[in-house]
Amino acid sequence: MRKRKVLFISSEAVPLAKAGGMGDVVGALAPVLNQKGFDVRIALPLYQSIRNEYSDDLQFLGWHMVRMGWRTLYCGVLKLVVNDQIFYLFDNETYFNHEQIYLDYTFDIERYSFFQRAVLESLDHPMDFMPDILHLNDWQTGMIPCLLEAHYRPYGRLDSIKTILTIHNLKYQGIHGRERIADLMDMPDRFMTEEGILRDGVPNFMKAGIVYADHVTTVSPSYAEEIKLDFYGEGLHELLQRNAYKLTGILNGIDITQYDPETDPVITDRYSVDDWQTGKAHCKTAVQTELGLHVSARTPLIAMVTRLVDQKGLDLLLHVLDDLLDGSCQLIVLGTGQPHYEQALKAAAQRHPDAMAACLTFDESLSRRIYAGADLFLMPSIFEPCGLSQMIAMRYGTIPVVRETGGLRDTVNPYNQYTGSGNGFSFKNINAHEMLFITRYACDVYRHMPQAWQALVRTAMNQNFSWSRSADTYASLYEMVLSQPSNRPIS
Ligand code: ADP
Repeated sequence: MRKRKVLFISSEAVPLAKAGGMGDVVGALAPVLNQKGFDVRIALPLYQSIRNEYSDDLQFLGWHMVRMGWRTLYCGVLKLVVNDQIFYLFDNETYFNHEQIYLDYTFDIERYSFFQRAVLESLDHPMDFMPDILHLNDWQTGMIPCLLEAHYRPYGRLDSIKTILTIHNLKYQGIHGRERIADLMDMPDRFMTEEGILRDGVPNFMKAGIVYADHVTTVSPSYAEEIKLDFYGEGLHELLQRNAYKLTGILNGIDITQYDPETDPVITDRYSVDDWQTGKAHCKTAVQTELGLHVSARTPLIAMVTRLVDQKGLDLLLHVLDDLLDGSCQLIVLGTGQPHYEQALKAAAQRHPDAMAACLTFDESLSRRIYAGADLFLMPSIFEPCGLSQMIAMRYGTIPVVRETGGLRDTVNPYNQYTGSGNGFSFKNINAHEMLFITRYACDVYRHMPQAWQALVRTAMNQNFSWSRSADTYASLYEMVLSQPSNRPIS
């Protein structure tokens, strides 16, 4: 059978460009799908960092001029192969030759409008890659299904291509004024309706993607349910309810070769699920020493590695932090983000110098030493589309304590004291004391029930969070979407 051709279109993909989890997902999923017999390639803007780092390997395929309203703009198309993965890179220096991936929001709307139009214009030539599926990611690519309806399908072009939009973060939607979007997208009036791309009178890229894509996915089954509710839906919950028939939650994976306590070169001692106790104890001593905490094997060591933003439940933590650090446990927080959280955590660490360390930096290597050295990993998120940290923690035998939301609910099974089953601890409500009590309970199990703890660690380390499992689900979805008639509204 002919290989299915899929083009991922994204503003981020590791190893070329990453600002958050989306870059990991796109960059990790594509190669795994290729191993499973697909021909998956990735379209990305040619950012300055890629131009600088890979200048010798970039292959120029061609150029053309792309129309965008009154503008006619140069677009170069280049090809790059990294670790056998094919990337197509779209060059326009005004838009993409910058140090940062994301710039000013208004400019970003124009930059990613260009990117979306440039990719569609380049499929035939110079890319010479006609995909069966365009796999889109977040608002930066959300207009593509609508662009197909507006500019290609009425003329019998790109007619058989199916589109899938993956929502990584519903909070950011790509919203801008009607006249500007009509101009940038040459969008006919018939799409400028509340049934089309407008929400409350304003064009919304994410909404457009949800309406016009053949299928929509998000990054965990629970989050796919939650975003149909007012609280989690960021104003799009009713739209998502109406489109529930084409919405699927597929859990992200983690790179299990990169995060592996048996081989990780930056941790103090390596260990496996069959032999973790000594190695993990050494890692704990090392991280306590490194961060100036009192060195104690028996004291439960709780960790957080996180962006310091309200989504991550930091208000819950700060509300009960002094109660939590009453002498019976220790806490390490590694993170950067909103200044008021940084200041509050720094002050708390000064109040509890032996029991708390606040590391206000982004440090990949330190994060691994913390994942390996901690006993518990706290993630009291208000919402969590998927969450990678709890999966990484479990891989290192560190037991998660999470709020039951989104991907946290889908990956953490609470410990059952009667059956001994479970891989972590969880609480239900956005309530600081509920979090405090379940964390204390987890500390008690650690301290007083060694056999139960050992079972928890074994179960956590044995979880299969590999991309291979998620990729199988995407592969089945691709086949389903290709075998079905289009889900697009008639326009
Ligand atoms: P989100 O994508 O919402 O930030 P995730 O849990 O999905 O949350 O992914 C966060 C990733 O970023 C994890 O791999 C985590 O280890 C890493 N990370 C977050 N903050 C830091 C930091 N300060 N230093 C090192 N790694 C961090």
